[in-house]
Amino acid sequence: MTSTGLDKGALTPAQFLEIDSAASVVRGGGGPSAEALLHLAIVNGVGAGAVLHTHSVWSTVLSGSHALHGGIALEGYEMLKGLEGVRTHKHREWLPILENSQDMVELGARVSQTLEADRGIHGFLLKEHGLYTWGVGLREAKRHVEILEFLMEVLVRSGAAQSA
Ligand SMILES: [Zn+2]
Repeated sequence: MTSTGLDKGALTPAQFLEIDSAASVVRGGGGPSAEALLHLAIVNGVGAGAVLHTHSVWSTVLSGSHALHGGIALEGYEMLKGLEGVRTHKHREWLPILENSQDMVELGARVSQTLEADRGIHGFLLKEHGLYTWGVGLREAKRHVEILEFLMEVLVRSGAAQSA
């Protein structure tokens, strides 16, 4: 994973570090992100090869306004087909919303529970914090960021988020 506090758009190979299953740095400099335990929970829970996390405006807005529903249902959008394994716009994608926390051990356990309970999801939101998504590799994970961010923006801009 990447060291903490870097511009993620301008990473060099030296800014990646290797961590073990307890989030201790094995190789590389700098400290891992505070959320390393969440990345590990996802790697272990769904066998992801790459995990990406964003702090976007849309994920912050939607995860706040929909927290009481426990998640957001995305349905009817052609762009859903950009998610791995989805073949039709009629697919119903559930994007769970988890209460945010600074206790990564506790939050990591809730992430594991969510991945266990909601099999087949492509991502989840932390309330008023951001999006987590993943893929078999970096290319797929990046595509999932783009698709989910697109759909969240559409939901807010179209006003559909009010009635969803
Ligand atoms: Zn974060």
